[in-house]
Amino acid sequence: MKKGKLIAISAPSGTGKTTIIRQVLKSFPEIIFSVSATTRAKREYEVEGKHYYFISEEEFKKKIENNEFIEWEKFYDYYYGTYKSIVENVINQGKSIILEIDVNGALNLKKIYLEAVLIYIVPPSIEELARRLKIRNTEGKTDLQKRIERATMELSLKDKFDYLVENIDLEKALKKTKLLIEKITKKEI
Ligand code: 5GP
Repeated sequence: MKKGKLIAISAPSGTGKTTIIRQVLKSFPEIIFSVSATTRAKREYEVEGKHYYFISEEEFKKKIENNEFIEWEKFYDYYYGTYKSIVENVINQGKSIILEIDVNGALNLKKIYLEAVLIYIVPPSIEELARRLKIRNTEGKTDLQKRIERATMELSLKDKFDYLVENIDLEKALKKTKLLIEKITKKEI
């Protein structure tokens, strides 16, 4: 059976990638979302097993040792990882999977899975990103500052990605992402 597509969507925190991915999954119900493991605290609206598997740092480290992740990253003070078993089960069934992972994670993924397709959602500017993160208000002040610093580093890596989608206007960004996903999963590109 032909393998499904492995699609990573990355962007600095606050770029609107979660919103875009949610809409994409609604339009493509046959595509699976890869639920990552993380050691960060659950936000109020998040659901265990839907947004993330929330695990302790000890459990996370054990999983690293047991080679359970295809990629993992320490992002500020927390760990995030993609389960190898989830990804391989899905693509081996011929279904496509979307990974919402950070920029370094996506670049590492591509080293293991050359066929992975990497999409980067580009924010209008660092200033706008900082403004959006402040409005979102899901992080404390220190975490917010760390996310802004990290975003600057992440932006410098955008040209290593296969496709860039600018998110200045959410509707346009969404339309472009959906078109891309359609082409990728229909194997046109
Ligand atoms: P947040 O704490 O805002 O949910 O996520 C922080 C960052 O971690 C985001 O850029 C998100 O895409 C990324 N992330 C989530 N899951 C994974 C993962 O499994 N691997 C990697 N490398 N990054 C992840």
